[in-house]
Amino acid sequence: MTRIELRPAQIADMRAALESRERTIIELMLQQPDYPPLPPCPECSAEVERMDSMLEPPQFGVYDSVLLINMKPCGHRFRGAVDIDQPS
Ligand SMILES: [Zn+2]
Repeated sequence: MTRIELRPAQIADMRAALESRERTIIELMLQQPDYPPLPPCPECSAEVERMDSMLEPPQFGVYDSVLLINMKPCGHRFRGAVDIDQPS
């Protein structure tokens, strides 16, 4: 399946949503299964149960890193350039 290209703004939104979810978990000392939901899939808006993300290996002369994201259970796969200087 081809990966869907995400715009930088979409990546930024998703990371912001994940960070605020993380903060909520820490502040309220939540335990699974009380974790807040993950951000919905940007493609089909399905509820996401699991999100796997990894960075593509850096290439010489390329300053942007590419983030690969796999959503489950809908199975959509995304890629998008990220600024590696930003905290992940
Ligand atoms: Zn989806």
